[in-house]
Formats: sequence, structure tokens, C-alpha cells
Amino acid sequence: MADEVDIADEVAETILQAQIERARKEQEAVTATGYCLSCGEPIADSTRRWCDADCRDDWELLKAETRRDLSETKADLTRWIVRV
Ligand SMILES: [Zn+2]
Repeated sequence: MADEVDIADEVAETILQAQIERARKEQEAVTATGYCLSCGEPIADSTRRWCDADCRDDWELLKAETRRDLSETKADLTRWIVRV
């Protein structure tokens, strides 16, 4: 039984790491579009990604929520693998 749990944990960890890596690459690839990435308002300075610090903080919070979701996915996956 312990072996199955170890294998499930290893598989889940591998998937989680792949998801985290993909999320990091997506975040690094985010470029300025001329619109705030958080609220969608047009930004006069085309090099900026957010209209202000509040919007940037909101956007980073959303990304943190996404990362937390990934952790929960790992826990769900581990439970599923152990059950199967
Ligand atoms: Zn904004």
C-alpha cells in the first residue's frame, strides 16, 4: 500500500511541476498590449502592463490563486490515484 501511495505522490508531483513550469512561462511571456491586463482599460504608455499598482496587485493575486488551485489539483489527483 505504501508503494502505491509513493507512486501516486510521485506522479502527482511530476504533473504539478509541469503545470507550474507552464504557468511560469505564461507569466514571463506576458507583454504590454496597450490595455491594462487586470481591468482592460486603455493605457497611454504602451510599455506598461497595468494602469496602476492596484491593478498589478490584483493581477498577481489572481496568479497566486491559480497556483493554489494547482496545489489542490495535486491533492485531488493523489486521492484519485490512491483510490484506483
Ligand atoms: Zn487597470
